[in-house]
Amino acid sequence: MKISKINVKKVQIPLIEPFKISLGTISSSMEALVEIETDEGLVGYGEGAAGILITGENLEGTVRSIEVIGKNLIGIDPLELEKIYWIMDRASAYAPCAKAAIDIACHDLIGKIFNQPLYKILGGHDNKLDTDITVGINEPEITAAKAKKHIENGFDTIKVKVGSTMEADIKRIRLIRSAIGAASKIRIDANQAWSAKEAVRMLNKLAEFDIELVEQPVRAYDIDGLEFVTKNSPIPVMADESVFTSKDAMKLVQRHAVDYVNIKLMKCGGLREAIKINTVCEAAGVECMLGCMAEESNIGVTAAASLGAAVKNITRADLDSHFSLKELPFKGGVQSVNGKSLVLSEAPGLGLIK
Ligand code: MG
Repeated sequence: MKISKINVKKVQIPLIEPFKISLGTISSSMEALVEIETDEGLVGYGEGAAGILITGENLEGTVRSIEVIGKNLIGIDPLELEKIYWIMDRASAYAPCAKAAIDIACHDLIGKIFNQPLYKILGGHDNKLDTDITVGINEPEITAAKAKKHIENGFDTIKVKVGSTMEADIKRIRLIRSAIGAASKIRIDANQAWSAKEAVRMLNKLAEFDIELVEQPVRAYDIDGLEFVTKNSPIPVMADESVFTSKDAMKLVQRHAVDYVNIKLMKCGGLREAIKINTVCEAAGVECMLGCMAEESNIGVTAAASLGAAVKNITRADLDSHFSLKELPFKGGVQSVNGKSLVLSEAPGLGLIK
């Protein structure tokens, strides 16, 4: 079987409401939808959801990169993933969203070729995983009401964006903890907002609210700072923007600079590199979370959930972006059961239906 055609189109889906983090605000999802056709009539679906605040990519650049990289893949067997991975790497430096879109579509095809759901192809440890749900930066009272609603809807872990002012962050977390009670978990994400010393100061103040972990307290490039926070914080530290690839993960785990790593397909270039990151982390005794860009639809989320369920070292999920979109491009794929539980389809590949 050979790849015969790669189609890409731009899609813009509005969010139900704007989403604010310390780096900026987004109000719609801009996606590059990819269909990879084969000479035997199978079609694989993928998406590149360019998160400009995180990866610096935009929709136009992602579409162009998919076109440029895609030309090199015509005539290649979609089962030859390692070959595809290195062809993509030679065709373009970086461009992780574009590569993720192609990688996801190839994985969807592989499931369809073997007539198996992707989570089984990727390891099959489980067919489901629990996700947290995120509340963005907003007035403390508003975030507390939202968090309470999410718990009532079946979630048990709230991820809270922080990094506005110290007073507002502390008030937000205090009100959320009192609104959701002691049994539910709170994880926080500073999206690079603090210096290392500010982070340690803040985390000492926030520790009384029983915080499970903090994501990316310092700038992405500040590995010394990340190590300082990990060694001095009462709250475990997860790297997000500091880890794009398995090479980044290797540097951090060798230095014991983090407690956890957040893997995202749009940062690393797809499932193949995501597996490599998890392998590096697992060997170092570091558990991973599978996250998503705020722009991802149920295509990217289904691909990520398939890997998150399939391997044991991915113990957490932050796969909630599709809940925030006004509409989804596909039916099927991962389904939410009782809020937090993401259950994968038993249909071949991603199980997405047009
Ligand atoms: Mg994050």
